[in-house]
Amino acid sequence: MLKVNNLEVFYGNSQALWNVSFEVPKGEIVALVGSNGAGKSTTLKTIVGLIKVKSGTIILDGNNIDNLTSMEIVKKGIVLVPEGRRLFPEMTVLENLLMGAFLTSKLDREERLQSIYEFFPKIKERLKQIAGTLSGGEQQMVAIGRGLMANPRILMLDEPSLGLAPLMVDQVFKTIKDINAKGITILLVEQNTSNTLKVANHGYVIESGKTVLFGTGKELLSNEQVKKSYLGIS
Ligand code: ATP
Repeated sequence: MLKVNNLEVFYGNSQALWNVSFEVPKGEIVALVGSNGAGKSTTLKTIVGLIKVKSGTIILDGNNIDNLTSMEIVKKGIVLVPEGRRLFPEMTVLENLLMGAFLTSKLDREERLQSIYEFFPKIKERLKQIAGTLSGGEQQMVAIGRGLMANPRILMLDEPSLGLAPLMVDQVFKTIKDINAKGITILLVEQNTSNTLKVANHGYVIESGKTVLFGTGKELLSNEQVKKSYLGIS
């Protein structure tokens, strides 16, 4: 569905991605794991058109999308839930959710809201609450909900479990599986390598701007290099 080939990306004169290549088959959960600064967020931001590609290709359904605007990429069904939630903290939960569907008709918006309440029943009770007053976990649910409001075919999640209490971390990973079970393909970036590889069909390890390892989630969990570098098992 999505193929990224030999991606090279710069911030000004400083190179962040050297050679990132991976595939996201339809219906799967694919994970990008790696340490701080490896280039995971840069990869996601490049896919949604926030950073320009220096060289390499991003192919969606057989077509190159690296010359499209972020708006056009959302319309094609790729949606990013950014690191750090990035909600509008002064706005209500409902207003935040609706921001994800500003391109959509009123009827479709209503339908999508109903499906979000199925994933997150608690959100329905909090629609009028100011988003900035929610807990970190609740804010993450709203951020994912806002992403879903755009009706993605591929939902890309950047560090959704970062900074959350253990119970909420479990909840986030369960939600990711539930969303995937509804047919939405997932590209998941995480530093919680263990939980991530447990839910991922396939995973890639990114080191210093390069994809260096590939395997099924299971294979990577038992890979010696992954165990040592990312799971703290020697
Ligand atoms: P993290 O989990 O910390 O976000 P990451 O794997 O997502 O790590 P990136 O944020 O993509 O890594 O960073 C990749 C490289 O690009 C790092 O060397 C980082 O310092 C650099 N970088 C990221 N954002 C910028 C920016 N706005 N300007 C310049 N360099 C940047």
